[in-house]
Amino acid sequence: MDKKDIRSLSVEDLRAFFLEKGFEAFRGNQVYEWLWKKSIKDIDQMTNISKSIRDALKSEFVINNIEIESVQKSTDGTVKNAIKLHDGLTVESVLIPTKTRMTACISSQVGCSLNCRFCATARLKRMRNLNPDEIYDQVVTINSQCLEFHDKPLTNIVFMGMGEPLMNYNNVLKAIEKITSPTGLGMSPKRIVVSTSGVPKMIKKMADDKVKFKLAVSLHSAIEETRTSIMPFNEKFTLTELRNSLIYWYENTKNRITYEYVVWEGINDKIEDINALVEFCKFAPSKVNLIQYNSIDDPDFVQANNSAIKLYMDILEKNNITVTFRRSRGKDIDAACGQLANKSQ
Ligand code: SAH
Repeated sequence: MDKKDIRSLSVEDLRAFFLEKGFEAFRGNQVYEWLWKKSIKDIDQMTNISKSIRDALKSEFVINNIEIESVQKSTDGTVKNAIKLHDGLTVESVLIPTKTRMTACISSQVGCSLNCRFCATARLKRMRNLNPDEIYDQVVTINSQCLEFHDKPLTNIVFMGMGEPLMNYNNVLKAIEKITSPTGLGMSPKRIVVSTSGVPKMIKKMADDKVKFKLAVSLHSAIEETRTSIMPFNEKFTLTELRNSLIYWYENTKNRITYEYVVWEGINDKIEDINALVEFCKFAPSKVNLIQYNSIDDPDFVQANNSAIKLYMDILEKNNITVTFRRSRGKDIDAACGQLANKSQ
């Protein structure tokens, strides 16, 4: 029989396990600290736990570690990791260093079930959700790389790697709880961004759960037909529903929303596209992050020229909407947004 991953147990579960086996309950707290705060990879590394207790643990549990399969470094300092999971599947996680920040871009699923036509990950079908520990371990891995390569700790986390985080909501939430807990990494939730293609029901759920992290929505078009043509699931989760969920999010969290937006030639580079975005931004306090398109070799998608980007920026600014233009990082190693597709395999 496969042994259970010990990290699927809560601290209460561990305490109960020890009591049942005739040990002191506080051993559960010690083991929990080894597993999360100290991120050990082997039960025998728990040096303040006696051998008999470790043996009791080993007879029932394993630690399913992730492994770095390969590391690629970009000329701009971006580092892309192929991460091997215990069942042999692979995801990618990226470290993006800037002068002021060390950002981890992490994955929430192996592949993705949504089929955004411009995204490389969409070409991999969704294999499975990541467990909370697999999400957490990516952060631990990137944090070690920050220290090793830059002598600085990780400062920010974005769920912009592979997968749709809101389609794996419970595990993402559990991972974030551990990342932000003093018994885990103790990071501030304000430094975590969950990026979603926009699943209205789950955005409402996040608002009800009063989550403290930030929300980014991959909008790309504020016109129903256009958005459906590039993000086909928009036919089911319509813009109207998305809008309503975002209003609900703001009312309940008072947290402003970031819209991620790529401008493509002939798709969303016209004045009516810009006007629709301006109107959409008025529903709830928000800002727009225009992102550079990273080609995935599909002739239908071509980054719009600078004058289109400038027009977007001018009109948004005239309407008092904060807008930034984000240049891609790590393009030379296929580590940029939408390029994560396990190419190295
Ligand atoms: N599923 C989530 C998170 C992963 S994608 C989401 O959709 O938000 C992270 C960001 O990269 C999203 O804003 C996505 O729209 C964008 N993206 C996807 N493919 C891209 C590409 N080829 N070039 C630039 N950005 C892309």
